Amino acid sequence: MIDRREFLKKAALATVGTIALSKSSSSFLQEETADLGKSKQTEELIPVVISTWKHGIPANEAAWKVLQSNGRALDAVEQGVRVPEEDPKVTSVGYGGLPDRDGFVTLDACIMDEKGNCGSVAFLQNIKHPISVARMVMEKTPHIMLAGKGAFDFAMVNGFKKENLLTKEAKEAWLKWKKESKYNSKKSKGYDTIGMIAIDKAGNISGACTTSGLAWKYHGRVGDSPIIGAGMFVDNEVGGAAATGKGEAVIKMAGSFLIVELMRNGKSPQEACEIAIQRIVKKQSDHKEFQVGFIALDKKGRYGAYSINKGFQFALFRNNQNQLLDSNSFLI
Ligand code: ASP
Repeated sequence: MIDRREFLKKAALATVGTIALSKSSSSFLQEETADLGKSKQTEELIPVVISTWKHGIPANEAAWKVLQSNGRALDAVEQGVRVPEEDPKVTSVGYGGLPDRDGFVTLDACIMDEKGNCGSVAFLQNIKHPISVARMVMEKTPHIMLAGKGAFDFAMVNGFKKENLLTKEAKEAWLKWKKESKYNSKKSKGYDTIGMIAIDKAGNISGACTTSGLAWKYHGRVGDSPIIGAGMFVDNEVGGAAATGKGEAVIKMAGSFLIVELMRNGKSPQEACEIAIQRIVKKQSDHKEFQVGFIALDKKGRYGAYSINKGFQFALFRNNQNQLLDSNSFLI
């Protein structure tokens, strides 16, 4: 177990640094916020949308438009994550994503609504918006998850277009990597999944998660992002959480589900994210060599974020303000 005092010291130290860091997700800030006039807090804290990494900023913009016009959180998260999915400059999500070791861009995504309905696609190729296919799996089939060719065929009969997702830049990066063909999942830098959780004006929570997964992964590898409860989970009574980073590490501890359960048992979103990261630190001895980051929102609209290594950023849109914030981390 990590000594609580040592842990607080790390958290306090982590707040020293950039301006963005001073606005970061420390539990102290969360508690302070929680103490401010409670009745007002609920009004101000929703609607809200939180998402991973800096591509969360334009994604949040799209989600916010839906939330502001009294839209459903489910529509907000779908519209939100479609932005990085179609941006060729984002090399870890959708179109422009870095391929697997054999040169194929393979996509994973999942979505979950306030009623606990969910849909997911894994190892999907040639479709630019896996999140919308995941939503269709949720809404049009008796199933939750479709994978590979089955997911692709389902997308085709439902009006999606077959597209080449491998951009020139991604192909060049792959050819360069292929010269040495060294697969080192620990050192891989391709940790940039977008996970997003939103609460709409009606107070309903939904979440989405979409990725091209780890660059140079084995062909057929599926990460945490399409696994409900690992890459993302929401429970409308409690809150929601999403993960980014090494999917294998997140699947092992059902990360997003764990965070929601911790919040159900009274932890704040920040405390829940920190406990989940501590779980990885305790159980996975190689944790120093990879990154995992979590974001969380509770039913009141309070947020949390935490990661193993420093460098994890998340985007938070509320009170008409969209901000990129630095998460605190276990290792500093
Ligand atoms: N979690 C993703 C995966 O393992 C990677 C990422 O966050 O970019 O597929």
